[in-house]
Amino acid sequence: VLPKNIRNFSIIAHIDHGKSTLADQLLMKTKTVESRDFQAQFLDGMDLERERGITIKLNQARMRYTASDGELYALNLIDTPGHVDFSYEVSRSLAACEGCLLVVDAAQGVEAQTLANVYIALENDLEIIPVINKIDLPGADVEKVKREVEEVVGIDCSNAILTSAKQGIGIEDVLEAVVKRIPPPPDNTHKPLRALIFDSYYDAYKGVIVYFRVVDGELKPGDTIRLINTAKEYVVDEVGVLSPKQIPVDRLYAGEVGYLAAAIKAVADAKVGDTITLKKHGCREPLAGYREVVPMVFCGLFPTDADQFGDLREALGRLQLNDAALSYEPEVSSAMGFGFRCGFLGLLHMEIVQERLEREYHLDLIITAPTVKYKCTVKGEEVIVDNPSKLPDHHEDLREPYCKMDIITPTDYVGPLMELAQARRGDFKDMTYLTETRTTLVYDMPLAEVVTDFFDEMKSRSKGYASMEYQITGYRPNKLVRLDVKINQEVAEPLASIVHKDNAYKIGRALVTKLKELIPRQQFRIPIQAAIGAKVIASESISALRKDVLAKCYGGDVSRKKKLLSKQAAGKKRMKSIGTVNVPQEAFMAVLSLG
Ligand code: GDP
Ligand code: MG
Repeated sequence: VLPKNIRNFSIIAHIDHGKSTLADQLLMKTKTVESRDFQAQFLDGMDLERERGITIKLNQARMRYTASDGELYALNLIDTPGHVDFSYEVSRSLAACEGCLLVVDAAQGVEAQTLANVYIALENDLEIIPVINKIDLPGADVEKVKREVEEVVGIDCSNAILTSAKQGIGIEDVLEAVVKRIPPPPDNTHKPLRALIFDSYYDAYKGVIVYFRVVDGELKPGDTIRLINTAKEYVVDEVGVLSPKQIPVDRLYAGEVGYLAAAIKAVADAKVGDTITLKKHGCREPLAGYREVVPMVFCGLFPTDADQFGDLREALGRLQLNDAALSYEPEVSSAMGFGFRCGFLGLLHMEIVQERLEREYHLDLIITAPTVKYKCTVKGEEVIVDNPSKLPDHHEDLREPYCKMDIITPTDYVGPLMELAQARRGDFKDMTYLTETRTTLVYDMPLAEVVTDFFDEMKSRSKGYASMEYQITGYRPNKLVRLDVKINQEVAEPLASIVHKDNAYKIGRALVTKLKELIPRQQFRIPIQAAIGAKVIASESISALRKDVLAKCYGGDVSRKKKLLSKQAAGKKRMKSIGTVNVPQEAFMAVLSLG
């Protein structure tokens, strides 16, 4: 296929608006995958993704399509993750395209992630084709959604494409629009090689498989490549295209997207956003916009059974081969024993890693509440604190990360959402009416308040209709203090948190009340206290267990007795003892849901 017949594009959408379903339809329509070996939502490979309905890992697929003008085109569909945690990866994968399909649900309209993704597309100068999907739904209002996209997003919708991805309506129109409206890549084959890495994953046989777009020049097996930002060099074993299975080719030219294998050991060696060039006659200047992604959210992971420490280390090592954004280092706590302090891009990323450790590696973990990375000054030097219990006692100042939060909501819920944002220390910045019925709220908010249950609260206060996006903006000093928890007179390090001074009493009170509910009664009375330094600000106690639980099972009801015993055993699995007190997993998360 000639460069003028190549089209590189992606699909952007708010979650659940139909991106994956549309992608599947495009693959079927172009017979890239036969429907008989078609597995619903081909591009969403991982089980976890499918269950959660999110696209985490980027992917790509080349389709061959003969358009109504009679010519054969190669259409490269580059998948993008839809979630804020992965926004840097969204921007890299969009940088590999000339255009994108903007999918908007005909019954829902524009949402926070629709907008966030559009802004990234505009920054990358992409041709944006609006696609109004789910026109089959009884609640679909195509005209209203078109107006909304025009007003809010500012793009012309007079030739928006109407689809029902579910029923296969309008799919041909989408393919024609990709061919006619998205420009071909510029022909830069004569220049020295530069290729943009927009994704990579670890393969046990071939090493890291790197997905890239050739911007200038050409690349073939046997070439010695150099990654400009990491300065690493490799000999290329294989290059190819994804269709969507890997198909090796002789070479890839400027404008094409594809993959390579070069015995690279970990994805951290071939980072998203890095530039590939040749060792000989290469380029010095990397492509624009490379950024090291830094973890923003931290938590402790401890095996419930100390014998699993080695397994946990190995599992984290394996996950990191495939996840350059995951960080971990050993942590020892007198209460918890040996474990790891891990860093993640955001909450979703954290949940995914935790779930994989438990599901794929069969580890039983106690997970401590997520925290952000604080900065403080001690004797004139900056100290970074990613674990509240390690906050130095004598710090001169304490700073926390802030984000700009955009919330899009039906206007009816503006009141409750403003209340929520205020309660979470948000500084009101702006409010605009998107349409007669929808409003955007903008706040500056401490990231620490977002990583608790902000998302769930926002959803519940808006009956599920509001959506949000946030972007880290920087650090700000605040009146923050460390809130310690003592269980049976022992400091429970993993339960420590850093909170605003003005809220400390309220949080301390709520926390001890919650812990009283969550920690099971034991043979002795257990005092629970919240303290700032030496000063106790709230206390509760759990009274001693008087009767044997089995006493409840009168007479010889053996099966009931057995059930109760096995229930207790299962409950025990997720406990960790702090001193002599057994503390269940939920208690470690208590600080997140104090309301
Ligand atoms: P994604 O999160 O954007 O990838 O969305 P999905 O493709 O996973 O779709 C989300 C849900 O909407 C799924 O249950 C789909 O079956 C459904 N869906 C997608 N397209 C349509 C459509 O055109 N009509 C209807 N009625 N449902 C659709
Ligand atoms: Mg999807």
